[in-house]
Amino acid sequence: MGAIALMPLPGAEAIDLERIALQLEFSLHRDVTLAESLRHVDQAYDPSRDQYNSRTLIDLLRGLVPRDAERVLGVTSVDLFIPVLTFVFGEAQLGGPAGVVSFFRLDNRFYGLPENGELLLARLVKECVHEIGHTYGLLHCPDPDCVMRSSTYVEQIDLKPANFCIECARSVQPDGPSSRMR
Ligand SMILES: [Zn+2]
Ligand SMILES: [Zn+2]
Repeated sequence: MGAIALMPLPGAEAIDLERIALQLEFSLHRDVTLAESLRHVDQAYDPSRDQYNSRTLIDLLRGLVPRDAERVLGVTSVDLFIPVLTFVFGEAQLGGPAGVVSFFRLDNRFYGLPENGELLLARLVKECVHEIGHTYGLLHCPDPDCVMRSSTYVEQIDLKPANFCIECARSVQPDGPSSRMR
């Protein structure tokens, strides 16, 4: 049974990655290991947008999946984008080995509100489970009680739980339908 490697990218030292790891283990029923941090992601930086291209980051991460893992998830404070969108909270390869999540826009201070570290972490945990869900083949889910529901605003992240609905949970089980297809 493969494991998920959580990889600290720039800014991640501010985050309790252990909490993310625990939720990932709980939701995915897979071991979660902490990978060595990746300190330089300059090649993903786009000076014209002053943001980081999440596609470039994912390309970088797919080459860095640790030997003992089958997935890698980068966590960072840098602001992410994909060319057609103003920003993304995170991105992942559908059924692929890599994903990335940023907490740049999960921080209340970004919206001019007082700092709330607990809320930031709760949002980040949800987005991490969501992106890892994509790497195990899950699409967006219409169930409001599912972490795979898509979120454009932090308010929508706050409304959804950190866990999968029954159907999504079933298909990400290590012996579930999606892994049988591989
Ligand atoms: Zn998504
Ligand atoms: Zn679902």
